[in-house]
Amino acid sequence: MPLLQPKPNGGYCAKATIKGVAVTFHLTPLGQKRLLDAGIQPGTKFPLALLADLARQGHAWTPPSTAEKTGLNWAQQFDFNLSGDESAEPLFVCCADCNGYDDLHLTASKSKRALAARVLCEHCRGKLLERFTLSVPLSLVTLPALSQMEAQGKLPMENPAVRLLRQWLTNDLSTEWEKFRKLTAQRQAGLRLDLPGELSLD
Ligand SMILES: [Zn+2]
Repeated sequence: MPLLQPKPNGGYCAKATIKGVAVTFHLTPLGQKRLLDAGIQPGTKFPLALLADLARQGHAWTPPSTAEKTGLNWAQQFDFNLSGDESAEPLFVCCADCNGYDDLHLTASKSKRALAARVLCEHCRGKLLERFTLSVPLSLVTLPALSQMEAQGKLPMENPAVRLLRQWLTNDLSTEWEKFRKLTAQRQAGLRLDLPGELSLD
């Protein structure tokens, strides 16, 4: 389960383990607000599916490995047990080459006049930089943007990677938020029952 953690310079990030890989997601102000509004306190863990939903909507993203991470305490990265949410792990898009999560982009490249599209991480893009005709951060990819890029010939039509991205973007996870809200309400109700009568403290 990911951990909502305050950043040294303000705001929050979410630290997660996905398929054994430690990943830190940055959050837009709206992404942070949705987590806080759902009752998730800074320094506590929350369901991975909620982070997957924020990533799908572009409100959680993985920064480049060199930039912005310096302010975070990476030594503490493995101090927390963040696994145990395996069922939500396939809800995240990963690099087509190395299965990594760092700074993912939707890319297009041309070889022998045919256009190919793939989602690639920062490291794998670095190996192929000169061949790209398109490289868009995954957090900026939306359903209308995919259709526009296809219509403009910037993405190949009927491409398997684009088809998968379309499915991913359509995968509404609002039921997961609802489930979490109900669980939190139940837990709070349970806690109230467990507490000794507050009147006796007077
Ligand atoms: Zn990669």
